[in-house]
Amino acid sequence: MGFESSEVKIYVRALKEIDFELAYLALLTCEGLKPLSRWEKPLADGGLELLRQMGLLTKQIRRTVKTGKEVIETIFSRLPAYISLYEHRFGDRPIDKSVQTQRFEGFLFGYPPCCVNEYIRKPYAPNNLRAEERKILFHWPCKDCKITPVLLDSYKSIYNSLNSF
Ligand SMILES: [Zn+2]
Repeated sequence: MGFESSEVKIYVRALKEIDFELAYLALLTCEGLKPLSRWEKPLADGGLELLRQMGLLTKQIRRTVKTGKEVIETIFSRLPAYISLYEHRFGDRPIDKSVQTQRFEGFLFGYPPCCVNEYIRKPYAPNNLRAEERKILFHWPCKDCKITPVLLDSYKSIYNSLNSF
């Protein structure tokens, strides 16, 4: 099911009404550019159903924050193994920003490892991307990245297609 088929357009349009970024993440995940995506805000059954109609597997994951308060994350992927990897690693666990977590999340979310490594060493180090290019990515590109410019073309075409839905 290509991302420009009329069925997908209907679902994406409905997701856009919930949130533009959610619709964007769903399309990136459908197209396989992101193996798995995480939505950190609450998502009602209608939203989950739209993701499923786009061919995505969804799962709600219970996490806790430092204060002990419970938060629910929604993850979605075309790949059952990625859903279970996420669930086993993070389900019922506190949210943390450890180096191991950043590396594993980078792997699951489809971030180039070079960018993840540099971000761990020095967050938000200057790079050569324009602001409008950075805003359509979910990772912070490393300086002189060899992978991001290639990814960008695909991200751009998906991002631009959203405006036509
Ligand atoms: Zn990089």
